Amino acid sequence: MSRILPWNWPAPVPALEKNSSEVLYFDYAATTPVDERVIARMVECLGRGATFGNPASTSHAFGHRAKEQVEKARQQVAELVGAATDRIVWTSGATESNNLALKGVACTQAGHAGHIVSSQLEHKAVLDTLKQLEEQGFQVTYLEPDKNGAITADAVLGALREDSFLVSLMLVNNELGTVTDVASIGRLVREHGALFHVDAAQATGKVDIDLKTLEVDLMSFSAHKTYGPKGIGALYAGPRTEGKLRAQIHGGGHEQGLRSGTLATHQIVGMGEAFAIARELAETERAHLSALRERLLKALAGLPITINGSRTTHVPNTLSLTPYYDFSIGNELALSSTSACNSASNEPSHVLMALRLKPSEALRTIRLSLGRYSTEREVDRAAELIRSALMIPIP
Ligand SMILES: *Cc1c(COP(=O)(O)O)cnc(C)c1O
Repeated sequence: MSRILPWNWPAPVPALEKNSSEVLYFDYAATTPVDERVIARMVECLGRGATFGNPASTSHAFGHRAKEQVEKARQQVAELVGAATDRIVWTSGATESNNLALKGVACTQAGHAGHIVSSQLEHKAVLDTLKQLEEQGFQVTYLEPDKNGAITADAVLGALREDSFLVSLMLVNNELGTVTDVASIGRLVREHGALFHVDAAQATGKVDIDLKTLEVDLMSFSAHKTYGPKGIGALYAGPRTEGKLRAQIHGGGHEQGLRSGTLATHQIVGMGEAFAIARELAETERAHLSALRERLLKALAGLPITINGSRTTHVPNTLSLTPYYDFSIGNELALSSTSACNSASNEPSHVLMALRLKPSEALRTIRLSLGRYSTEREVDRAAELIRSALMIPIP
């Protein structure tokens, strides 16, 4: 099907110019707006004159057309990450993908026991799932990061035990933007004979992923961190998971028996289009984000702040800052004071605590995350607001 909207770059600046009191969005790591081109494709899957059929209806053209679109999207997702198309399983998001990967592998272990290696930096969708598995009798080692926020291959090697059957680590950390060396870690996990799961929700479009060469067995994806819709994701399940991964949602045997439920054609088509755009724009987008991040760092130079995480191995869009003292920045900037998932609880972020920040430091840390529609003007304004907020220490 042809694209409805042109592939224009840079993307049109939103209406912000007109109204300077509008809130500036610096929270792309929490979620992204859906790209207009994605919306156009999704709408094509909804109404009477559209591809609304059930992809599982094999007896008529409505079903066939929907299935065709679903399979095209599967290919688009697979192409962004270098996977074989038939290894991509649709889920409702990275949370479900993580649940399916961890619980799905754990429940096939003989005697329902064994050891899993993960880290203190993981997303709650991994940590809370592992907690469940611990309650069922599995043992989990949560690796501590080094001072740059990295989980190293050496740390993983040191934690592997004879009964370790699974290692789960994120590719890009959602709070710090740090990137894990999954190539080296994958090699040693495979040598050990365990399976390797990687949560790549924050990574798609931002770092190159090639599952043809990476020794990764399971990888979780989400559409809404990459300009697709919320409520759709995917799990890559490689050949070594055959017979070692069991469905967690039953009813109809969709997705090769790994995840039942009527496929959400519009969501799936949206995710496919979003990932195709991410692939097409990869270089342009990374250059755009790197330039903005450099500009922001330059504008913040000399301020009483610490930058958390590695300065060298990071994605270009995320910046975690800890000011030396409490400050108030007002509400002109939409940013994250801690991971969106922890925001409800107002507890210091577990990621920053793992970096050994004091609770008070963790609580005043802010995460600025840039995205496709971020502009120089927005970055300059953000720096200005942070600068003036830090000039007036709160006693
Ligand atoms: C957002 C996120 C998730 C959860 O993804 P959903 O699609 O919102 O369920 C999991 N892991 C990481 C690292 C994330 O950033």
